[in-house]
Amino acid sequence: MHRSAPLLLFGRTPTLTFLSLRTVKRIAVCAILFGMPIRSTVLSHAARPFTSFSLADQPRVRAALDWLAKNVDWINNEQARLTEIPAPSFQEEKRAAAVKALFEAEGLPAHSDKIGNVIAELRGSNDKECILVAAHLDTVFPADTDVKVRREGDRMLAPGISDNGTGLAALVALARALHVAKIRPQRTILLAANVGEEGEGNLRGMRALIDAYRTKLRAVIVLDGSGTDHVTTKALASRRLEVVITGPGGHSWSDFGMVNPINALVRGSVRFINTKVPASPRTTFNLGQVEGGTSVNSIPFEARLKVDLRSENEEELLRLESALRECIAAGVKDEMDNARDRSKGKLEWKVNAIGSRPGGDLPADSALLSSLRAADDYLGNQSRIERSSTDANIPLSLGIDAIAIGAGGNGGGAHSLQEWYEPAGRELGLQRVLLALLGVSGLAVEKGH
Ligand SMILES: [Zn+2]
Repeated sequence: MHRSAPLLLFGRTPTLTFLSLRTVKRIAVCAILFGMPIRSTVLSHAARPFTSFSLADQPRVRAALDWLAKNVDWINNEQARLTEIPAPSFQEEKRAAAVKALFEAEGLPAHSDKIGNVIAELRGSNDKECILVAAHLDTVFPADTDVKVRREGDRMLAPGISDNGTGLAALVALARALHVAKIRPQRTILLAANVGEEGEGNLRGMRALIDAYRTKLRAVIVLDGSGTDHVTTKALASRRLEVVITGPGGHSWSDFGMVNPINALVRGSVRFINTKVPASPRTTFNLGQVEGGTSVNSIPFEARLKVDLRSENEEELLRLESALRECIAAGVKDEMDNARDRSKGKLEWKVNAIGSRPGGDLPADSALLSSLRAADDYLGNQSRIERSSTDANIPLSLGIDAIAIGAGGNGGGAHSLQEWYEPAGRELGLQRVLLALLGVSGLAVEKGH
């Protein structure tokens, strides 16, 4: 826990005389967070040591940090238990109920909203403002996937164990640590297990949370997956589209020569995958799911294709979306032009938007990022800025401060049946979340101070 350099937000700090300009800015941020007027604290009492600002020196914060370090087994077990409750997008109810029970066991009032998000509230001294910590409940795995957790040494293996078993375990661990340590924040802390992050969930859970709390919300911390090596401050924009091509359908032998929707889809897809996309701004596409046809000896009446498009740049994304439409249109035309028997009907096609994640960036001078950086400094952790597509896209696109971070430990194989998680070092991730959170929520001023 000890660092060589003095740290401003959490550690013992020297007097103002020795502080750099950046330092002074940080102290200013911290004074704001703790609800103290900058003038009287930084200026009038400039000669006073700043230990009173320091979060980690507060006994209750200390107690919460200690609880997180000493209860890794409990947290691991809750992670396994929650992971073993299937929760594909749109079927998160059972897992949501389990998280709600854990919140309530900590004496936190919790409720479910209309679409199935579970929200627990730790009331602050100023409940006109709040900070949201969210972890998504849903997985990409169908309900019948075997999600039993296997243990190999310290390693836990199961689909969804890391994404987002880690985030959910961290959420309930935070609830317990805050409760055990009797922490009272200045701004209200909302802990939410949200639905609909993955796939066609289209961030519907986070959209609903932002709708509900928008006017009070000062920052959002999204816990997604494991690790402590990154902080997502840039929201990667994406579009998900579904191509649908339909035709009359018929018999493979007697109707041969009729237009075939699968042929048209293949013709259009081959054109599309030859589209050149720039390496910078990084732009990607994925043909992710194909459906269509009813039997091997029938000319299908329908073909469907789901495509995921992403780019660091909105314009590239729009260009790619038009390229997809043009290629499909051309594929359909090729098929119709080449049909031997045009009297038996023609093809229709459309492209449906099935998901859209807006982009956005967290300002580099935001209080939330400063708070995370201060937590990293205090814990001796290093992390890099990342661009990614997460629940944080929604607040970031609306200009609300948000980050997405891992909740500690190590994981791999996300979205595959081989997904794994290793909890070694997870306390670092949990403490990082707690300190970053309390840095922006602040602590209620206790009586007698
Ligand atoms: Zn995730």
